[in-house]
Amino acid sequence: MEISRFKQVLLAGALITVSHLASAALIVNSLPQSSMVPGGVAIIPTGVDAISGRYKEQRILLANYNEDQYAIIGIPLNAHSGSHQFALELADGQRKLLQFSVEDKVYVEQHITITNERQVNPNSEDMIRITQESSEMNRAFSSWDEDLTPVFTMQVPVKGVRSSSFGLRRYFNGQPRNPHSGMDIAADEGTPIYAPAPGIILTTGNYFFNGNTIILDHGHGLISLYCHMNTIEVEPGTRVDSGTQIGKVGQTGRVTGPHLHWSVNLNNTRVDPSLFLLD
Ligand SMILES: [Zn+2]
Repeated sequence: MEISRFKQVLLAGALITVSHLASAALIVNSLPQSSMVPGGVAIIPTGVDAISGRYKEQRILLANYNEDQYAIIGIPLNAHSGSHQFALELADGQRKLLQFSVEDKVYVEQHITITNERQVNPNSEDMIRITQESSEMNRAFSSWDEDLTPVFTMQVPVKGVRSSSFGLRRYFNGQPRNPHSGMDIAADEGTPIYAPAPGIILTTGNYFFNGNTIILDHGHGLISLYCHMNTIEVEPGTRVDSGTQIGKVGQTGRVTGPHLHWSVNLNNTRVDPSLFLLD
């Protein structure tokens, strides 16, 4: 019974693919958890068969799940509560506007003391480097791989102490900074880090705040980030599977101890990685 239903879904998917040669429909067998708050993920049935969509000027992920199409949208941490709108483009060139409602969420404050003062108040030379690196990372986060099929159920990338640190309103040495846009997992230096889902390595580098860093593309705007690593064991272009070792935990960049900073991005928006974990 289950198998024949699966075949039907596959068949339906094949027909959809044939009918839209311009943009083959993406078919997925799982979705992330929906959480309509700043830093969360909105999963909205489109009610149509759109070929692309945009939210806040960014392309959004559209996927067919159980024969219905859904928009899977990352909501920025600085999003206001209330009604949000996104646009769909249909095969006949028509546009459709849809809305969803974002609830308020107040993240708690976190105060951190950093002994290296330059990592809190960088000098002008550092600032040039930081600006360059942030545009490099922004470029990576906005890339779009049409051929990779994103997998939304991820494995924890490292064995360690998982903190619910996403979204914390951060103060470094008493000074307010951007909210924490990822999950910190504390582990000993040298602990292996594994790809949580299949993808292709987009970028690797050593960055001022993030230290040794990997950016991993899972397709259609789903992109993950790994920071403060001791060693990087992959190169841009390397194809990885769930569970492929990509490096080891370290304490490079702005840290108070060894840990992995892991972030997950949709439509160039940092969202809560826990929404992609099974447990
Ligand atoms: Zn972090």
